[in-house]
Amino acid sequence: MEGEANPFESLQSQVDDAASYLEVDDDALERLKHPQRVVELNLSVDLDDGSIGRFTAFRSQFNGDRGPYKGGIRYHPGVSRDEVKALSGWMAYKCAVVDVPYGGAKGGIVIDPAEHSTDELERITRAFAAELRPFIGEDVDVPAPDVNTGQREMNWIKDTYETLVGGTAPGVVTGKSLDSGGSEGRVEATGRSTMLVAREAFDYLGKEMAGATVAVQGYGNAGHVAAYLLEDLGADVVAVSDSSGAIRRESGLDTRAVKEHKNETGSVSGYARAEEKLSNEDLLTLDVDLLVPAALENAIDGDLAREVRADVVVEAANGPLTPEADEVLASRDVYVLPDILANAGGVTVSYFEWVQNRQRFYWSEERVNEELEAVIVPAFENLVEAYESMDLPNFRTAAYVVGIRRVMDAYEDSGNWP
Ligand code: GLU
Repeated sequence: MEGEANPFESLQSQVDDAASYLEVDDDALERLKHPQRVVELNLSVDLDDGSIGRFTAFRSQFNGDRGPYKGGIRYHPGVSRDEVKALSGWMAYKCAVVDVPYGGAKGGIVIDPAEHSTDELERITRAFAAELRPFIGEDVDVPAPDVNTGQREMNWIKDTYETLVGGTAPGVVTGKSLDSGGSEGRVEATGRSTMLVAREAFDYLGKEMAGATVAVQGYGNAGHVAAYLLEDLGADVVAVSDSSGAIRRESGLDTRAVKEHKNETGSVSGYARAEEKLSNEDLLTLDVDLLVPAALENAIDGDLAREVRADVVVEAANGPLTPEADEVLASRDVYVLPDILANAGGVTVSYFEWVQNRQRFYWSEERVNEELEAVIVPAFENLVEAYESMDLPNFRTAAYVVGIRRVMDAYEDSGNWP
């Protein structure tokens, strides 16, 4: 099931679908469906045993019409050229949907980080940063964390870049630790926007969040923060999962305690107060009010979508539904709040971090969270406005309509040159 749909084809079909509601000429449309540049790198890195490891890495720069390219770097064995191309396109439209002045990019290394020591990961990351140096910069392309990367990797990238250019440039990368120029609230930002979008969607649909049942697939940075913020709103998070499987508790899990258990043991399964162990697939088809896929692409395909019993799906992961799953859920009146809005809190607070870096003036966590809400809530309202006024079939199409329009406007304003 997983990995069947090509994510780049999914992105292209999402753009085609939205463009059919807009007046976009065919030549311009092609441009909206392809990255401007994809860099492929072969890294040769000294390993601890004295051998030299070779790693394939990519950086796709999708569109720079609205500002510097922007997007994360993931470390995963499943990273491929088409995956980073898709993810870079999602970044371009995501930044446009929340109206932060960036284009879209994404990078990755084909690697299982669990197979490498910290020393090896540092050398691999620094090799990647050194090779990327001509292509990134505070006003050029600004990487950030993604699957299996975090503050540690961002600090290494910043340090490598600054050493090579011989100066201070904290805004070359976001998602850094606080001591290296990171922002308060950045780690929680993706999960926080997921919660905000779920809250606004429930309000719009006339549903109560207090007492609502929630299932969260994936308990990494996005999933666990979304889970505890939804629990704070009074929802019952009845099931969560990670790659080890899913756990369930009918009356609601203590999501922070589950996280502590995962920190101690490496996985959510085995958490003592769970009543039942399930597979990831069981979790995705639970009869809940809200389902939050927060893992990888293609978690729900067309077949599984027929079994989904949630009323609302809020995508914390990038691309968790195949286009077929989207169609099936739409035909069954399941409301899907798309990734390019729901997880946009990450890049929004990345933008705040970059602004703080440029100004050398740092904000409180309270201010970051307030400013994040002031971006996400109007972005949700814009999307609803497009959905209603253009009679669009679903929220994903509405998000692409808003995003594509903004990218097109910037492109047309500057003209096609050279
Ligand atoms: N990797 C995150 C995403 O997919 C964050 C990107 C960023 O902060 O630039 O949105």
